[in-house]
Amino acid sequence: MALHCGIIGLPNVGKSSLFNALTKISIAAENYPFCTIEPNVGVVPLADERLDKLAALAASAQIIPAKVHFVDIAGLVSGAADGEGLGNKFLAHIREADGLIHVLRCFDDDNIVHVAGKVDPLVDAQAVELELALADLATAARAREKVIRLARSGDKQAVKRVEVLDRLIECLDQGGVVGGLNLEEEGAALVKELGLLTAKPMLYCANLGDEDTPQTSGHYAALSQHAQAAGAGVVAIKARLEAELSELDEQEQAEMLAALGMNETGLQRLAKEVYRLLGLETFFTVGPKEARAWEFRAGIDAASAAGIIHTDMQRGFIRAETISYEDYVALGGENACRGAGKLRLEGRDYVVQDGDVLHFRFNV
Ligand code: GDP
Repeated sequence: MALHCGIIGLPNVGKSSLFNALTKISIAAENYPFCTIEPNVGVVPLADERLDKLAALAASAQIIPAKVHFVDIAGLVSGAADGEGLGNKFLAHIREADGLIHVLRCFDDDNIVHVAGKVDPLVDAQAVELELALADLATAARAREKVIRLARSGDKQAVKRVEVLDRLIECLDQGGVVGGLNLEEEGAALVKELGLLTAKPMLYCANLGDEDTPQTSGHYAALSQHAQAAGAGVVAIKARLEAELSELDEQEQAEMLAALGMNETGLQRLAKEVYRLLGLETFFTVGPKEARAWEFRAGIDAASAAGIIHTDMQRGFIRAETISYEDYVALGGENACRGAGKLRLEGRDYVVQDGDVLHFRFNV
């Protein structure tokens, strides 16, 4: 599966509302904890004005945006790490995610049950993070158990592994952030191998009430401070409002956004942040038939980028004709760039840059 972001949080904080809005796929969003159990995948187009500009210059008949994959992971509950009932399943889904959006209830509404009886995003955040840390502790302890005998017999690799595991366990035990441990290459590889939940890139999503703003909401301010300490970002959205907005057609939506003094929906902002969180960047392919944005993991080479479009292109890769987005727009299109010597011929090891307009030459 493509890189994807899991949506997590306690029950009744607005995950389903957010997910529905994100995908317009209707799943039940009722005032009822545990209402969504099976995970659901939503694929959201990423708004990118660069793509529109390129399409206009090339008079492309079709525009195909990049995508962000979201997975709705149903409400995590206290005790999940004990592996009781549904807990295990939640954690397994979280383990598969490449990044996490942690939705926190920042809206006050007496009609909507709060599982802990009180709206306090900080307490909620800590409750969820504790579950993740406990799950990681269990994972690390199991891994240590497996290798400890070998380590005692003096096996160097095993000794090293136990050393790293002990550091991880100590850190998790003290409520620390594994990402902040500054592990060497081996340690980082181990964290990855174990699929530690607390090491995943995470973004807080503050679900504000309709009347709130980030400036006026005390809940938001508290969460923001917590996020900063954890080195994580926060995106403020209004899940219920976004759900309503997503029901409107494009014109109505634009009118409502204007009336609200907004220039993009909260969902668009969120998609952009998640794109960044997952380490995704964009290259473009542009022609009269279509202008298309392709998401890729930052740092890949040109041959791998070709493989995103088609495995044949990677197999038979010859070169990538490359124009930077800035040149393409400044000079007004491919031909002008070619004439001005701004079209580069790059080989398979070229590291693709965000915004590159690529044309792959290949032969199979
Ligand atoms: P989940 O259990 O986290 O998936 O939460 P839901 O999305 O099902 O939301 C639970 C309830 O809270 C639903 O009745 C939503 O309509 C309501 N809700 C979600 N977001 C907001 C919001 O921003 N403001 C208010 N007042 N209610 C919301």
